[in-house]
Amino acid sequence: MPLKYHIPIKSVPSRFYPVPKNILLESEENCLHCARCVKELCPYDAYGQRYIDPISGFDTINNLCKDCFRCVQGCIQGTISKVPNPEYQDLGDSYWTPQIISTTWYQAETGRIPVSGAGYGGPFRGPGFDAIWTDMSEIVRPTRDGIHGREYISTTISLGRKPLFLSLDEQGQMAMPTFPRLELPLPVLLSQPMLATDKPAVRLAIIKAARVLGTVVLLPRDQLPGNWLDQALYLVPQYPARALDLDDPCLGQVQAVELDDYPEVTTAIERLKGRYPEVIVSIKLAADAGLASRCEVLAGAGAEVLHISADDHAQGQGAAQDQHLKDLIRQVHLHLVETALRDGVTLIASGGVALAEHVAKAIICGVDGVAVDLPLMIALECRLCHRCLQGQSCPVDLEHLDPERGAQRLINLMGAWNNQLLEVLGAMGIREVRRLRGEIGRAMFFEELERETFAPLFALGTGQESTERRDS
Ligand code: SF4
Ligand code: SF4
Repeated sequence: MPLKYHIPIKSVPSRFYPVPKNILLESEENCLHCARCVKELCPYDAYGQRYIDPISGFDTINNLCKDCFRCVQGCIQGTISKVPNPEYQDLGDSYWTPQIISTTWYQAETGRIPVSGAGYGGPFRGPGFDAIWTDMSEIVRPTRDGIHGREYISTTISLGRKPLFLSLDEQGQMAMPTFPRLELPLPVLLSQPMLATDKPAVRLAIIKAARVLGTVVLLPRDQLPGNWLDQALYLVPQYPARALDLDDPCLGQVQAVELDDYPEVTTAIERLKGRYPEVIVSIKLAADAGLASRCEVLAGAGAEVLHISADDHAQGQGAAQDQHLKDLIRQVHLHLVETALRDGVTLIASGGVALAEHVAKAIICGVDGVAVDLPLMIALECRLCHRCLQGQSCPVDLEHLDPERGAQRLINLMGAWNNQLLEVLGAMGIREVRRLRGEIGRAMFFEELERETFAPLFALGTGQESTERRDS
């Protein structure tokens, strides 16, 4: 049995107080100064540990409070109340919600799976990835199938072209060319977020994390760090269309490169492979209209890795902007299955992969793995305020991040995500993430259920419906 993949978790407190969800309001006006104030009875001693910065006036009470409402309900004069924090509600946007951001902060700090305690309180459906339900029927054996139990669950994937069959000569030796392959112990590649472009410390933290996790970092060629040679095995330099220079020294050192798709990309790959046959080439395609047929052309021409790139909200690009990434992945996967090309090529997807469950759901829809970017920024305490893009100061001073500390937070996040992936695989009775790929038979899609259930009803003309009812 292979050694179990282990992600070393270590708690890393945030450098800045996270934005709390609610804030306490206290009024002195009606206070009777009770001999035993309810504040002394706080089970978390929030008032006792409270610190108010004399210069900035920052009050730690809201970060120490656990929202148990004991003091709020206990004060007979009603001097204490809790209200939603407008700063929290303003975090992120409609997709990168405050809840996703604060959950990511928690996972990056602790490496733990977030647990709500009182169960899931939201609706069991929603847009995008929330419209997918997975079959957890095997969860009935938690003691036997515990994710850290005796049955090993593999999360390894391989990048590269796979032979569809083996050909041996008369001596039993391989009689066919072999393809370079890169094994990753988790189905997640790290991708440098656009927000990190001018932040070398963030880039360094991501590369250090990739090294510990055993995965790779996708980053523009012109953003490679000065000491890239030491890190070459963990770097996948990306080249814009027609920008590949075969004399680039990093081509002989890295295990994989990524080229943006363009009409003559296969010719460029041919030349590249002629000189560096061991380098795996990924082609990055915008998730635009015609994606499935373009993937068919490239896979048919021998592409090794196809990278489907959606926007930050997991929506397609250009003419496909109304389609969600999950649907675009399914189209590509099924089209390659129908054309008997799917097993030869590796598919990865990126854009809007915000939570651990999105990794599992993207794989169920048909990719081998995903590339994540913005969650890495959030794990480093980014608030997605975009002030840096307007030349303003960063509220969490990411320019001066300690790369070691940042790397551990990224490792913690991936540790929490990996454990959630193991939970899903264990609950589905699947022992290998590779077997999750395209397993749509083990998932339900809300839009399809709704269509199957309601479309026949609404398709009936009112006359036909009333006739049938009368007949029955
Ligand atoms: S709400 Fe609960 S945790 Fe928060 S300060 Fe009051 S008693 Fe303490
Ligand atoms: S300025 Fe805002 S968006 Fe930019 S890195 Fe800092 S927190 Fe993130």
